[in-house]
Amino acid sequence: TTQAAVIGAGIAGIATAIRLAVKGYAVEVLEANAYPGGKLSSFQLGDYRFDAGPSLFTLPQLVDELFVLAGKKPTDYFQYQKLPETCRYFYEDGTRFVADAEPEKLAQTLEKYLGEPAESTRRHLRDSALKYDITERLFLHRSLHKLGTYLNRDALKGYLNLHRLDAFRTMNRANSTRFKDPRTVQLFNRYATYNGSDPFRTPATMNIIPHLEYNVGAYFPAGGMVAITNSLVRLAEDLGVQFHYQTPVRRIVTEGNRVTGLEVPAGFRPFGLVVSNMDVVSTFRKLLPTAKPPERILRQPKSSSALIFYWGINRRFSELGLHNIFFSQDYPTEFRYLFDKKTIHADPTVYLNITSKYEPSDAPADGENWFVMVNAPANDGQDWDALIATTRANIIQKLSRLLGADVASLIACEAVLDPRLIESRTSSAQGALYGNSSNNRFAAFLRHANFSSQFRNLYFVGGSVHPGGGIPLCLLSARITAGLV
Ligand code: FAD
Repeated sequence: TTQAAVIGAGIAGIATAIRLAVKGYAVEVLEANAYPGGKLSSFQLGDYRFDAGPSLFTLPQLVDELFVLAGKKPTDYFQYQKLPETCRYFYEDGTRFVADAEPEKLAQTLEKYLGEPAESTRRHLRDSALKYDITERLFLHRSLHKLGTYLNRDALKGYLNLHRLDAFRTMNRANSTRFKDPRTVQLFNRYATYNGSDPFRTPATMNIIPHLEYNVGAYFPAGGMVAITNSLVRLAEDLGVQFHYQTPVRRIVTEGNRVTGLEVPAGFRPFGLVVSNMDVVSTFRKLLPTAKPPERILRQPKSSSALIFYWGINRRFSELGLHNIFFSQDYPTEFRYLFDKKTIHADPTVYLNITSKYEPSDAPADGENWFVMVNAPANDGQDWDALIATTRANIIQKLSRLLGADVASLIACEAVLDPRLIESRTSSAQGALYGNSSNNRFAAFLRHANFSSQFRNLYFVGGSVHPGGGIPLCLLSARITAGLV
């Protein structure tokens, strides 16, 4: 059997390890941190539990698929429920409503609260489904960098419909044409941020994203988001995969056009196959200093990052749900600050996630665990300490105003995550959440392939390579990579 190494126990690394183990490889996962999951991990702060990164879970079948592949029953490892509502929205003008997960009900809600004709929402979600179908055939299930991808019936059907992807105008342009109320435009523009992009630049193709939340559904894993990581680690271990924590890989050792092994703190370890789940920019810059770096790809602008305040709150709010959005007054300015000025506007859109709504043990009986996040620019050496202090004050003011409560006095304990920390904890270039941004229509073609063109037994997987960031795409990247192996 070939000894295979996966560098990094991010979600894509774990999924790749599982797939390789099923194929018969002897797999070892080398992880720098003391815990698995990378961005998809969890921590405890006093009596409050927090998911550290991702909070929205779509396409759970991509997780289930791994258990089935290994001949196991998914529910023996992992359970989740479909959410009845997707998000609670709060606007500065006092408008607030709960967005139902069911497309028809959403259409009715937007008509009732925003005066948006229900037919516009129906059409938007139908279009979203159609675009998703085309994208899926062309981009999501295959390597973009192998000829075979372009020569099959599925792909052909995709090309014939390429014009429907709406790649030649921006998401905001398309949404402003479709919807009459600016608040509806803002609601659907926000989906650009699901892959760290700017709705005023990203192509309208990204209107595929609401399809996942409404037509397919949003879910919540029992035990919180970290259950995705933990259940897959358990599956991998049951398949014989060995995890080595606190084992940062220092070098990928090569000879001619092959990788021969890895340099870890304990010395050289030979491997016949290496898959890097480390961010591809860091993999080239830090682990392959003598290889020829694919500069054009590595230098693509990065997606946004995030600033997160984890607050243990000692009160309960019945008007809040699992996912809550407090919109900014001025969306174009907010994004100009993020992507041009590379800073955070004084009135940012605030995302508030509260898992204790579904997992009561995540907070004391009379409290809630608040995960409070605003979009932040990728790390360019900004004065983060100053930015954190002002943004914290701005967020507290905004939430206090919109909730009619003195939020500052309710914070029992606090932790903070900023782009610097995201970068140092997971090696992601500039702390970007989703690798390269999708702010131009060629982005899909400017992500690194899932294989190396220089070294025959080296592969890449995860949010910084094809097909992109976010849990579902990371799981798809593991499927594509294992397929190529
Ligand atoms: P990562 O999670 O980046 O992990 C890489 C791993 O490799 C890390 O564990 C790191 O320690 C390890 N590593 C790096 N270098 C080395 C080395 N040299 N040696 C050994 N180990 C190494 N996605 C969603 O789907 N929904 C969301 O709601 C969502 N929200 C997010 C919110 C935040 C705050 C963040 C940070 C991300 C969010 N994402 C979300 C994105 C999602 O978390 C990522 O796309 C995904 O988790 C990335 O997984 P990955 O496998 O690429 O690797």
